[in-house]
Amino acid sequence: MVRINDILDTILEYNSEAELHIVERAYIYSAQVHDGQMRLSGEPYLSHPLAVAFILAKMKLDVESIAAGILHDVIEDTHATKADIERLFGHNIAHIVEGVTKLSKLTLSDKVARQAESLRKMILAMADDIRVVLIKLADRLHNMRTLNYHNPERQISIARETLDIYAPIAARLGIFWLKQELEDVSFFYSMPEEYKKIDTLVNKARDEKEAYVKEVMEKLQEKLSLEGIEADIKGRFKQHYSIYHKMLSQNLEFNQVYDLIAFRIILEKKAQCYEVMGIIHDMWKPIHYKFKDYIGVPKQNGYQSLHTTVIGPHGERVEIQLRTKDMDEIAESGIAAHWSYKEGARIDEKTGKTFAWLRNLVDNQKESTDPDEFLENVRIDLYPDEIYVFTPDGEIKTLPKGATPVDFAYMIHTKIGDQCVGAKVNDKMVPLNYKLETGNSVSIITAKDHHPTPDWLNFVVTVKARSKIRHWINAQEKERSISLGREMCEKLFRKKGYNFNAMVKSGELDSIADSFSFKVVDDLIAHVGFGQITPLQLFHKVVPDDEKDREQEKKGDKLSAILDKLIGKNRKRKKNSGGIVVKGIDDILVKFSKCCNPLPGDEITGFITQGQGVTVHRKGCINTLQMASERKIDVEWSDDYKDSYPARIRIRATDRTGFLADVAMTINKSGANIINAQTETSEFGAVKSYFTISVSSIEQLEKVMNELRRVKHVNDVKRIDTTE
Ligand code: MN
Repeated sequence: MVRINDILDTILEYNSEAELHIVERAYIYSAQVHDGQMRLSGEPYLSHPLAVAFILAKMKLDVESIAAGILHDVIEDTHATKADIERLFGHNIAHIVEGVTKLSKLTLSDKVARQAESLRKMILAMADDIRVVLIKLADRLHNMRTLNYHNPERQISIARETLDIYAPIAARLGIFWLKQELEDVSFFYSMPEEYKKIDTLVNKARDEKEAYVKEVMEKLQEKLSLEGIEADIKGRFKQHYSIYHKMLSQNLEFNQVYDLIAFRIILEKKAQCYEVMGIIHDMWKPIHYKFKDYIGVPKQNGYQSLHTTVIGPHGERVEIQLRTKDMDEIAESGIAAHWSYKEGARIDEKTGKTFAWLRNLVDNQKESTDPDEFLENVRIDLYPDEIYVFTPDGEIKTLPKGATPVDFAYMIHTKIGDQCVGAKVNDKMVPLNYKLETGNSVSIITAKDHHPTPDWLNFVVTVKARSKIRHWINAQEKERSISLGREMCEKLFRKKGYNFNAMVKSGELDSIADSFSFKVVDDLIAHVGFGQITPLQLFHKVVPDDEKDREQEKKGDKLSAILDKLIGKNRKRKKNSGGIVVKGIDDILVKFSKCCNPLPGDEITGFITQGQGVTVHRKGCINTLQMASERKIDVEWSDDYKDSYPARIRIRATDRTGFLADVAMTINKSGANIINAQTETSEFGAVKSYFTISVSSIEQLEKVMNELRRVKHVNDVKRIDTTE
């Protein structure tokens, strides 16, 4: 059993000024609250937190980490609360212990284990302090070392979880020795037969190859001495699990795994790594495609090395890794190595780009020589755009940051989304726009007759939720359009002495729908309701010979009829389109908006209106800004536009005798007609006149306005909307 003095001595070895009293107090407190508790091994429970703290001390972590390691199980397993820890040991230690406790509470069912990748991300995302993860890993390591006290079933399930979740996290953080030990112990328990096989083979190979390993190392040493380079050369067997994994993934026999032994050369300087590689390539022929430069392009976890494979002295493949002492330390200890960094240590800038938090770590290190403060500043933000939450079944769902229960509901199933009325997060009711957080357990409350509402679109963030809500709203609108269209048609057909519903039922309208390129009659009726086809147009398709109604249709465009009357010319209209082409649609009722009175030459936009066909506005007209964009339709001026269109202008002037007469005469002279005039005169003699005039185009309007600007006492002439 580890004793507290072992821990204190280890800390003093790397930090002679460490505040050991924090660790001592943590020890006393932990001993008190765990008193009477036993481990399966029969040892006092305290042996576990002490062993964990010792591992952390071996990793040369700061005293807060080590104290938190001693306290890591007290919230979960004793009467102690976070508040107690905070009061006694301060905010940081309490925060770390709470973080470790939260991770322990993640229920790792078999179902969860299958989602290893998500769970790893979740653990990293939940631990907002890197030390939480380091303690969790040390905790797992000690539990693995004492796994023999569990029954075989437990052993297998814990070992699998370690392989799936914790070893990859250690790898992600670059703590290679920890990853290897977790893997090999897990391998031993979860696949005992395979483990024994590999173990036997490795031992045999070790005996056989002992002389060979010595030979290669000596040859390398000799050559480097000749060149005057000091180097530390190691020849190591690959760990059992790596061999097994390689055999399995590449379908190899044991004796086909050529890199059973990896040779490692540790050098003083980076430049020497490349130099020595050149020397080796001179000695033994390199296999060029087997060369990897992780010094130039480090791995995401900060790992740096040159890897090369050469044809060795007996024609066999030899794998050699070259790195500096600093790189070797990172390769073994990963993120934990940064603690003991001396000033001037650096990591390639490129690493930082893909691994922002690591760059952060190094940046902080540069500014701070206080290791405690340094680790404190390290916050994990590996996956800044994602959150991970649990379903009631313990399944993990990945959602974008900012996701709400509605997003979650749609992710589960469209029906759950559509019918979602409320949500519980960790068993508490929350509003539907609540922002979910990593680790939340989310359950959705549904009601059969509930439907999405448009305001959900204001807070959902996933594409699926958004499109499903839109889909539902559109379907609703279509339904409304069908019933409206049906009503309009029924009315008109009844007036003409026909029974619309009976005609639909008899299938008489099927061919009509087809001629409009609609799949079903309902689509046709929906378009009537939606305003793209008038009931009268439809009626003429169905009953083509009704002459009397053709007359009425011509009068359909009320505005132009009024216009015709106003400007005193009873022209025959060429088409009812009024000089507008609606892209993709023929034979449609077109109306000019009364608000902005578009003229030929103006840029224009069309809007589909319920039961009114297409209304044409000037582009940018204030009224169009409020209209739903799905109603927008492209329109343009055709060649057959009418002789005149109404336009509204405002004239500001100073009053004088004969002013209005002059204005009227100017307008007439320019070839335009006055449709309407309105004048306000203030008591100070300021005149504001509003004219609606008929012109043929925007050019003519501009000409009129220019003429008006020349009229005596006119200050300002402006084209306006009705609303102005
Ligand atoms: Mn523990």
